[in-house]
Amino acid sequence: MEMLINSKHISTDKSMDVLNPYDNSIVDTIPIADKKITLDAIKSAKNAKESIVKLTSRQIYYNLNDACDELRENKKKIAKVITQETGKPIKGSLYELDRSIETLIFAAEESKRIYGESVPIDAGLGGENVIAFTKKIPLGCVAAITPFNYPVNLAIHKLAPALAAKNTVILKPSSEAPLSGLMLAEILANHFPNGVVNTVTGSGENIGDILVKNDDINKISFTGSIPTGIHIANNSGMKKITLELGGNDPTIVLKDADIEKAVKEVVNGAYLFSGQVCMGVKRVIVEHEIIDEFTQKLIEETRKLKVGNPSSTDTDIGPLINNKAVQNVNNKVEEAVSMGATIEVGGKIRNNFYWPTVISNVQEDMKLVSDETFGPIAPIIEAKDINHAIAIANNTHYGLNAGVFTNNINDAIKCANAIESGSVFINKASTFRTDNMPFGGFKNSGVGKEGIKYAVEDMCRTKLIGFNIK
Ligand code: NAD
Repeated sequence: MEMLINSKHISTDKSMDVLNPYDNSIVDTIPIADKKITLDAIKSAKNAKESIVKLTSRQIYYNLNDACDELRENKKKIAKVITQETGKPIKGSLYELDRSIETLIFAAEESKRIYGESVPIDAGLGGENVIAFTKKIPLGCVAAITPFNYPVNLAIHKLAPALAAKNTVILKPSSEAPLSGLMLAEILANHFPNGVVNTVTGSGENIGDILVKNDDINKISFTGSIPTGIHIANNSGMKKITLELGGNDPTIVLKDADIEKAVKEVVNGAYLFSGQVCMGVKRVIVEHEIIDEFTQKLIEETRKLKVGNPSSTDTDIGPLINNKAVQNVNNKVEEAVSMGATIEVGGKIRNNFYWPTVISNVQEDMKLVSDETFGPIAPIIEAKDINHAIAIANNTHYGLNAGVFTNNINDAIKCANAIESGSVFINKASTFRTDNMPFGGFKNSGVGKEGIKYAVEDMCRTKLIGFNIK
């Protein structure tokens, strides 16, 4: 595929292959942008600012709706590309498209609800005879930098609210899985004036800083790993930034929980997209009274999962994104085993596949759980009681989502208040998100919130206008 700059398709002499993680075949190639091309994209987005600001909110609403219709028409085609470039099982890719369509609808709706407020300015000294109100105005140009794991829905969580608030955009998708995000951007661009939606492709290390440091970019909206997020925060100067970063989400199962329900949710949460999900269940913290029963049931359910070709509709577990990712997971599992952990089921590797794996006797200081492990692992940590479970859950510099299983309302409230994360779900695993809820982590898991209403707020500036009416 090519880049899109000022509504023109751009390629370069240098390109990189996009590989299918299932069989390492080449799906397509993408151009490698250099400094000049990246600056061209910034110029295009800057020059188009006026043309989108001129559109009425009503027009923006219709444009986003029309783009949504086009996305719906191309659902199967784009889902297939997600599966080819990420190895995500096709049922997951189709679900991602369903969510993306809904995310775009949320954004269209939100484009009509960008309100300022009247300010009682006469409440302040000197404010008599002045009336004032605020307007929410666009920031200008937004650079959206996205990761490989949800290449369409995470891109739409940035592009759609940016457009709803009348900003221009540049999408820099992950080089691992850029194609479906580029297809999405092309669809959006079809419904807006030239230059409003642009894309650049290439290595984040090479072109990332050009976007991040450029004064004509007014906001960086980033989703990805913590090290890249910290790098962006350190280099973005006075720009607004939203950082949606890594997670190490705990799911606590207390002794009075519905064990069957907890097992079902943990299976989904730990193995979804082979565990390559920021809010995946990364630590299963179980009260000691029920740990044997829980572990046994989790092993049984894990055995039922079908590992295989991600294009088959009955496949549950596909490959990881590349072999480096498999080695990362394997190294952490091997270290945990050398420190006393036990592989109960799984632990098997073939090419880019890592089998869904239950690991017991896990201790908090093992890298498998002290760090984010992006793989299909359910590591079980034993807790003495609820206070111990909360302490384990909070013993991390991450704080994205958390889940708690209990039938005791007091324990539920205690956990909800004590766990330091952006969301806490009772009787659901951490791996839960709807696209309208405020989503974003505490601690090193991020800065700011996405979820369309909240992202739109963050894509605006507040201007106060006052009148002396004396
Ligand atoms: P990554 O940080 O390696 O890459 C993300 C994006 O940043 C890519 O487009 C990459 O090219 C770009 N990039 C790399 N270096 C850059 C630089 N110096 N400047 C600017 N951009 C640069 O992340 P990944 O491996 O693609 O994704 C996995 C990570 O993303 C995990 O940590 C996961 O938890 C996190 N994630 C978080 C959320 C969330 O909403 N909190 C959602 C999905 C994924």
